[in-house]
Amino acid sequence: MADYDDNNIFARILRGEIPSQTIDEDATTLSFSDINPQAGSHSLVIPKGAYANLSDFADGASDAELADWVRSLVRVARKNGLDENGYRVIVNCGDNAHQEVPHLHGHVLGGHALGPMLTRRDQ
Ligand code: AMP
Repeated sequence: MADYDDNNIFARILRGEIPSQTIDEDATTLSFSDINPQAGSHSLVIPKGAYANLSDFADGASDAELADWVRSLVRVARKNGLDENGYRVIVNCGDNAHQEVPHLHGHVLGGHALGPMLTRRDQ
C-alpha cells in the first residue's frame, strides 16, 4: 500500500475545502469536472475512501466500493451524453503513468473522436 497523503487536492475536495463542479455522487464516490479538460468532456470519478491509486483500491476496497466506482464511471459517461458515441476511461497509476494527484481517479473523456490511445514511444 502506498502512503496516503491526507492533503492531496482530491482529499481536500472531499472535505469541502476546495470547490469542485459536482457531476455525480453516491455513498462511496464523487465525480466532478476536471479543472484542465483534455477533451470536450472530461470528468473525474473518485472513491471517497483514502486510496492513493488503483492498486491500493483493488487491494483495500470493499466489493461495494469497487462496484460503486465502476458504475459511477459509466453513470458519469451517460450523464455527460457520451454513451451513444463512445468515451474513454483512463486511470494513471504511479510515476510511469504520470499520475499527478495521489488519490485514485478515473478520467472519463469524450465528446468527439479522441484519436489513438497513446502516442508511440518513438514519436
Ligand atoms: P493525473 O495526471 O491522472 O493524476 O490527473 C490529475 C488530474 O486532476 C488532471 O487532469 C488535473 O487537471 C486534475 N485536477 C487537478 N486539480 C484539480 C481540481 N482542483 N479540480 C479538478 N481537477 C483537478
